[in-house]
Amino acid sequence: MELYEKNAWELSEMLKSKEISSAELTRSVFDRIKSVEDKVDAYLTLNEENAIETASEIDKKRLAGDQLSDLAGIPVGIKDNISTKGLRTTCASKMLENYVPPFNATVMDKMTNAGAVITGKLNMDEFAMGSSTENSYFKPTRNPFDTERIPGGSSGGSAASVAACEAVVSLGSDTGGSIRQPASYCGVVGLKPTYGSVSRYGLVAFASSLDQIGPLGRCVKDVAMVQSVIAGHDGMDATSAYREYPDYAAALNADIDGLRIGLPKEYFGEGIDPFVKQSVLNAVKEMEKQGAVVKEISLPSTDYALSSYYIISSAEASSNLARYDGVRYGFRAENYDGLVDMYERTRSEGFGDEVKRRIMLGTFVLSSGFYDAYYKKAKLLQRRILGEFTSQFRDVDVIATPTVPTTAFKIGENTDDPLKMYATDICTVTVNIAGLPAISVPCAYDEKGLPAGLQLIGNKFTEQTLLNAAYAYECISGGFRKPEL
Ligand code: GLN
Repeated sequence: MELYEKNAWELSEMLKSKEISSAELTRSVFDRIKSVEDKVDAYLTLNEENAIETASEIDKKRLAGDQLSDLAGIPVGIKDNISTKGLRTTCASKMLENYVPPFNATVMDKMTNAGAVITGKLNMDEFAMGSSTENSYFKPTRNPFDTERIPGGSSGGSAASVAACEAVVSLGSDTGGSIRQPASYCGVVGLKPTYGSVSRYGLVAFASSLDQIGPLGRCVKDVAMVQSVIAGHDGMDATSAYREYPDYAAALNADIDGLRIGLPKEYFGEGIDPFVKQSVLNAVKEMEKQGAVVKEISLPSTDYALSSYYIISSAEASSNLARYDGVRYGFRAENYDGLVDMYERTRSEGFGDEVKRRIMLGTFVLSSGFYDAYYKKAKLLQRRILGEFTSQFRDVDVIATPTVPTTAFKIGENTDDPLKMYATDICTVTVNIAGLPAISVPCAYDEKGLPAGLQLIGNKFTEQTLLNAAYAYECISGGFRKPEL
């Protein structure tokens, strides 16, 4: 087995015992990138020279006997909407094509302090708006299980790079499913943490009340390792929760005897592919055999989740994206006639179609004539959705659903039909609306060999319960299968 194929926790042990060096491991990952990246297109920017340098520094520290974290020396890929000091951060947009942040996101400070080796910046849908990574200004990313298909989105590069072993683990961001949905399509594990548990400082804002950074990896333990590093209170983020977080990886436990699992009937109805539905039900059966207690539940407002998500997220996006005006940073149109014309041309030329669609929708639902009819109603529904989850969590510990209604679709299949594209988020958006944590783990492969994911949703700040449940299932299912590339 090559070094680049191994999981982070195994590599961590090998590094600690000095069986391998981080420089050796990092070179192995870059060799892998060189051999498969032209098929996958996961990266927007590679950071090879710096990565090798960091790796060698970590090796020196280790030889000198320094106390290092579990992630020290592990190659990690970063979604391109997370600010990396000195390393281009484009959000896959023409608007930020040449933007090099003068500061690090808090998660980047945490990752670098932990000794992580940054491989580069990963492709995504422009400003994280999308479900397939086809909205990137630069190029689409391809699903390593079938390169004619999408890897999901918006963190498509984060999921595809990990599945193709072009990074050991990665960071993504999730506003309505963007970590879990690509994780499901690419057969990897992805965790969307509780809102407020990971700092958003330095994450380029899409919808600030929903956005959350989280880890992707090829196994649950790797995801737990990264989450332990990035979780924590941050004074730079006013929505950051003030509390202590456990070492999730150290506390990982596959004992699910007595775990109460809820199956919400609304997530298994119309629109869910029969194969996906059956695979999720089979996964839950397996967990039942290990002592979990399963009961059917109902979350009746699920029907309204997509509309309220697209209203709230677009409203916030329209306001957040007002800063790209051609004045402070980023792209500015070349030819214009006065200030207003400069704004107009800069925004018309700098943003792609989907981003413009969201800005227009968002501006509309916030406008004085329509605010009550749309935005206010969506916020009321948000409260109802959260209330339904809260009351269910009195009786169950986790809620099990499909992550996505189908396996990965073909590149180009949904590009002309935004509503069809939005519908792929039906199982994931409720979690962001309610600020909850959720994890996606691979649970089956269809007859074409494409992965399907099981989503486990937990109550606020119950990441450990989710990771344990996912770990227990992974022990049964055998976990990640490497795609042929
Ligand atoms: N697909 C959803 C959207 O387009 C979610 C995106 C995300 O989570 N960043 O809004």
